[in-house]
Amino acid sequence: MSLQTTELTKSFGGVRAVDSATVTFLPGKVNALIGPNGSGKTTFFNCVTGMVRPDSGTARYRGRDITGAPAHRIARAGIGRSFQLCRIFPRMTALENLLVAVRAPGLLGKLLPARQRADVARAQHLLERVGIEHLAEAQARDMSYGQQKLLELAGVLMTDPETIMLDEPAGGVNPALLERIAALVRELNAEGRTFVIVEHNMDLVMSLSDHVVVFDRGRPIATGTPGEVRADPAVLEAYLGV
Ligand code: ADP
Repeated sequence: MSLQTTELTKSFGGVRAVDSATVTFLPGKVNALIGPNGSGKTTFFNCVTGMVRPDSGTARYRGRDITGAPAHRIARAGIGRSFQLCRIFPRMTALENLLVAVRAPGLLGKLLPARQRADVARAQHLLERVGIEHLAEAQARDMSYGQQKLLELAGVLMTDPETIMLDEPAGGVNPALLERIAALVRELNAEGRTFVIVEHNMDLVMSLSDHVVVFDRGRPIATGTPGEVRADPAVLEAYLGV
């Protein structure tokens, strides 16, 4: 078991965004987290990655309790994440954005030269890997939205995470780029990385994932292979209200 929550709960005012959610994601697999708008997927992601502190319940990663841990500690434990809307610095170049991604707060400017050289080499390698090496010196704000998404994925990879959580990787991305992102996920998964993906594009979810967790009103209502959850009456009801 890699990432697991038990009765995780987070409320905002009177709204239980995540409501006693007990979820297990499978290690080494592409896991998808789907559900109607407002079903708590982003809040769940935020709780598990240290962006939001859950009210109660637990989150464990590889047997370690990460409940309420700060984001940098969770990242150090091996979980990397992207954001629904890219999180990059628009006035920095692609290369600079990747170098910032690996610097712990307070360490800026204090790195050893050897470490810095290694980071630059890794950043260049990752820009190649996602196919935007020609944009290394371009400012992020001059890149297309899809290129920014690829840059963000490269940023996630800078810390060499064993588990990668992607929030809507296909959102606002054109079909050609979508294919590239899907291929990258497959490659990285084949290398042994676990994925947890929140995604609205059902074709992508069905073709990419091994294991699907369906949320409704803050908790899982169905779990299984894409085929299993697609045939589940509770899932149809949650999506269609039938
Ligand atoms: P999803 O990602 O599935 O669309 P969210 O986690 O964004 O769902 O939202 C779940 C519920 O929590 C929604 O009713 C939403 O309005 C509410 N919510 C999420 N974040 C906040 C917040 N920061 N303040 C108040 N309510 C929030």
